[in-house]
Amino acid sequence: MTFDELNLAPALLRAVQELGYDTPTPIQAQAIPLVLEGHDLLAGAQTGTGKTAAFALPILQHLAASGVERAAGRPIRALILTPTRELAAQIEESIRGYAKYLDIRSTVIFGGVGMNPQVERIRRGVDVLVATPGRLLDLQQQGLLDLSGVQTLVLDEADRMLDMGFIHDVKKVLALVPRDKQSLLFSATFSDEIRALAAGLLRDPKSVQV
Ligand code: AMP
Repeated sequence: MTFDELNLAPALLRAVQELGYDTPTPIQAQAIPLVLEGHDLLAGAQTGTGKTAAFALPILQHLAASGVERAAGRPIRALILTPTRELAAQIEESIRGYAKYLDIRSTVIFGGVGMNPQVERIRRGVDVLVATPGRLLDLQQQGLLDLSGVQTLVLDEADRMLDMGFIHDVKKVLALVPRDKQSLLFSATFSDEIRALAAGLLRDPKSVQV
């Protein structure tokens, strides 16, 4: 399979090509068509498999296809939750690369650094937000974040999020996003706790495993 066969916009294909990606990795080949079709997804994949592009490319494709809702103040339409600041920063950097030729704005928020620059970037409007759960809730509780426009939610490295004790934070975030959305859960391992989280979140999901 090639990237050309994945029904992605030319702007995305060009960015991916410039990054030196020749062929989709197995998780990308399996997940991208399912996410483009609008399915919820339960994905078993480790770091290093190319899972970031597996969720980011179809999300960007959907956002590009639906245009920028400037009239509505550019609501956050995709939310990616991830356990650590390093992962969050890495994911957002990848998204920036994939979105290079699109009019789509992303930003990243995580704890341990000042809130003001993050708040300012959100205030100016972002389409895609990458966040760690604690900082996301901090900002939301201060009324600085509106998640009511979220159309796609990704829980990345869900097992690590639970291992790090974020289950309650994750559940609080799930209560803040619309019920009617597309949800993607990525995890390297599948404990009963992950399966319970997936069962509560995902609707009629497709499963992929690499
Ligand atoms: P990830 O598992 O998403 O953290 O990706 C691992 C690394 O593989 C990152 O450096 C990506 O830029 C790179 N990568 C992702 N997809 C591809 C691809 N299809 N071809 C080559 N490199 C890729």
